[in-house]
Amino acid sequence: MSLSLFDLTGRLALVTGSSQGIGYALAGGLARAGARVVLNGRDAAKLAEGVEHLAREGLNVSASVFDVTDPKAIEDAVARIETEVGPLDILINNAGKQHRGPAEDFPDEAWRDIFRTNVDSAFFVSRSVGRRMIQRRSGKIVNIGSVQSELGRPTIVPYTATKGAVKMMTRGLAAEWAKHNIQVNAIGPGYFDTPLNAALVNNPEFSAWLCGRTPAGRWGKLEELIGAAIFLSSSASDFVSGHMLMVDGGLTASV
Ligand code: NDP
Repeated sequence: MSLSLFDLTGRLALVTGSSQGIGYALAGGLARAGARVVLNGRDAAKLAEGVEHLAREGLNVSASVFDVTDPKAIEDAVARIETEVGPLDILINNAGKQHRGPAEDFPDEAWRDIFRTNVDSAFFVSRSVGRRMIQRRSGKIVNIGSVQSELGRPTIVPYTATKGAVKMMTRGLAAEWAKHNIQVNAIGPGYFDTPLNAALVNNPEFSAWLCGRTPAGRWGKLEELIGAAIFLSSSASDFVSGHMLMVDGGLTASV
């Protein structure tokens, strides 16, 4: 009975940036909890490979290729998904990028690009999907923040600024849309081994530092993000809104 609170059977989810990494893991996790899942990315071939892999497990998945920084492409894609697949119950705003470099020399275009990918995207996709959820008086939106939503770190000032913005966008949308029965929350992942973090994963010095700095003493495993995503996508979180659930082995809880 209590487990049915977490059951996603019959729900339709869109996970942005899900051809690899965290998005791919979350797409598979939601599908295994019963959801139908639309995966997204810009590379049709890479996306098709991911969809095929999950479909072979018997999961109900499909693909929608669009660029989450392009408001027109987003609106077209969301309209197409709703017509061809069904009304979206769940949106995971996961697409994101990293760009490292000293703040004093950071290029203008790289700053704009990281804001487009990490912040504009979450707002534009939420706007398109949220407008439809408002009409249905039901929806779950989960933004992917970071430990950098709370903590600074040298060489990633722009990334940290974007993830702080994601935290406050989560609270703002939660405040505005709770009355429409839409819960907007976020997940704050610690450090996970994905292509986005390749430079850190391949750096033994960083890895040793991280394991010392994290109370759990290790990197996160992608499957450890799934429980938080299911909770925030399901009826189990119907009175939870504006929260960022840290999945970081205790990193942000400690100095
Ligand atoms: P990856 O680089 O492994 O994957 C990013 C995904 O986003 C890819 O599928 C990529 O596909 C897609 N993507 C990028 N830009 C766009 C775009 N403009 N339109 C559509 N899709 C796009 O990243 P991670 O899995 O590591 O990160 C996912 C999220 O989690 C990000 O928001 C990141 O900031 C956050 N995060 C990651 C952490 C980690 O430890 N890895 C820690 C904390 C937060 P394609 O390029 O083919 O379009």
